[in-house]
Amino acid sequence: MAAGDEVSKLIFLGPPGSGKGTQAEVIAAKLGVAHVSTGAMLRDAVDAESRLGRKVESIMASGALVDDATMGEVVRDRLTEANSQAGFILDGYPRTLPQAEALESILAASDVDLDAVVLLDVPEEELIRRALARNRGDDTEEVIRERQRLYREKTEPLAGYYRERGLLRVVDGDAPIDEVTSRILEAVD
Ligand code: AMP
Repeated sequence: MAAGDEVSKLIFLGPPGSGKGTQAEVIAAKLGVAHVSTGAMLRDAVDAESRLGRKVESIMASGALVDDATMGEVVRDRLTEANSQAGFILDGYPRTLPQAEALESILAASDVDLDAVVLLDVPEEELIRRALARNRGDDTEEVIRERQRLYREKTEPLAGYYRERGLLRVVDGDAPIDEVTSRILEAVD
């Protein structure tokens, strides 16, 4: 970001268990920008038993991905409503190449440029350990492994996509929470 430019438009990428959601929340608060978590939005929709919630409930429970068209609508509405010029951290979106392309056109339509894409890098064994220790009702080992598999297959290629665009910042996420927060702030400064 340029000096004096306080508005941040960031994407956080990282495998399940990388601490991405925690860091997105902490850093969004520090920077005073919106924390846009698609997982949280979908869980709210499930709790509210809305049309969207009924559509995604079993997909989420299995660890599979919600289709790109549905996610595109969810994110377009949210970013428009949040006034994306005011800054945001996208947490959990994009997760596939078509989603990254959809996001590019959503942002271009509002003349918004991304500042950086933070990739939290954590070793596989540590991820499994953390995921099993987490206490979400749907986190059976099978579902955890499916989420990891989909991350490797569908989401990891986004690192190359954003590296080509000069936006990727890889941050070592295998450290205590506060230390990782400092590393991220340094990486996006
Ligand atoms: P998360 O909290 O980011 O791990 O998301 C929880 C679940 O919501 C995922 O396992 C997916 O089923 C669904 N989900 C969230 N974001 C997306 C996305 N961008 N694309 C597809 N599915 C998503």
